[in-house]
Amino acid sequence: MSQNVYILRAHEDSGEMHLFLALKTQEDECRSQQKSICGKMDIEEDSITIFSCQPENSARKQCAKVGKQVCSKCVSYLYNNGIDFEK
Ligand SMILES: [Zn+2]
Repeated sequence: MSQNVYILRAHEDSGEMHLFLALKTQEDECRSQQKSICGKMDIEEDSITIFSCQPENSARKQCAKVGKQVCSKCVSYLYNNGIDFEK
């Protein structure tokens, strides 16, 4: 059981979407990491939140729905639980 939740944000200029790892703090709140999972996007860049504070299962479903606009590196993390990611 992990406390990790996910936030999906779309970059305003490119429309590219990246996932951010976040730590659940309260029922409907979470604290995001500064950088996206792939490291390409910063939380402070102009972006639109697609969803926030979703657990892994729900994040997978919603990313599948959104499709290929979601960064593949970020998505693969969802399916690998971070294994071998630090490269
Ligand atoms: Zn990414």
